[in-house]
Amino acid sequence: DMRHGIALYLEGVSVWFDSFRALNDLSLYIEAGELRCIIGPNGAGKTTLMDVITGKTRPTKGSAFFGQIHNLAKLSTEEIAEAGIGRKFQKPTVFEKFTVLDNLMLAAPKDKRVSKSWFTRIDAEIQDTLDSTLDQIRLKDLINKPAGLLSHGQKQWLEIGMLLMQRPKLILLDEPVAGMTDAETEHTAELCLRLKKNHTLIVVEHDMTFIDAISETVTVLANGAILAEGTLSEVQNNEAVIETYLGR
Ligand code: ADP
Repeated sequence: DMRHGIALYLEGVSVWFDSFRALNDLSLYIEAGELRCIIGPNGAGKTTLMDVITGKTRPTKGSAFFGQIHNLAKLSTEEIAEAGIGRKFQKPTVFEKFTVLDNLMLAAPKDKRVSKSWFTRIDAEIQDTLDSTLDQIRLKDLINKPAGLLSHGQKQWLEIGMLLMQRPKLILLDEPVAGMTDAETEHTAELCLRLKKNHTLIVVEHDMTFIDAISETVTVLANGAILAEGTLSEVQNNEAVIETYLGR
């Protein structure tokens, strides 16, 4: 059990784009080892929230802390990634002509790669990370296959693997099951539950079957603020949530 305190703490975060307020005095507390789902209608501020966590967008107001020590406002996006926040965007960006193994190796932090001979002699730390990554994403049988020949689901899992090669502590997943078959969605849910054993996860998704399979706490965003928080059935029965979804 890795629940030992705060993974992420946002306090009073507002983001203004000119006169438009994409996040409105939002406070969010995520414990280490949690798997938090974020849902909400289009334009609710989900992407902006993920952008704030990775430093891509800076809060106009408020503060954001990662763990006990990292004030995200004081870190560059690179430093935030190095501190252990990793994000997977919706569209896979694997190198199609490269094998699964090469994609994973290229994703390892540059200073950890053995520059001249990483095909022949991989350092022990990277080998460990590679082994555990392949255990997680279950693509061991495909390591020599060019990534371009993988299915959509396999590409998404490979990309999660590429993220794991950087040894993140907090993983952000942007609509991980978009475009997946039911079977792929189920595999992705199992993958998320495996990742949860050693990571904190924040998942933005619309697919309620998937959310139901993985989530403990669901945060509902609307108009840049938290509308409701609770189990999936709690938030689905919340009147403000029902109104927001049906009112559109
Ligand atoms: P979601 O991911 O929940 O659909 P977003 O965070 O993408 O919501 O967007 C929230 C609101 O902020 C939207 O109305 C969007 O148009 C606006 N927005 C997002 N990014 C920018 C930007 N760079 N400039 C201006 N408005 C933006």
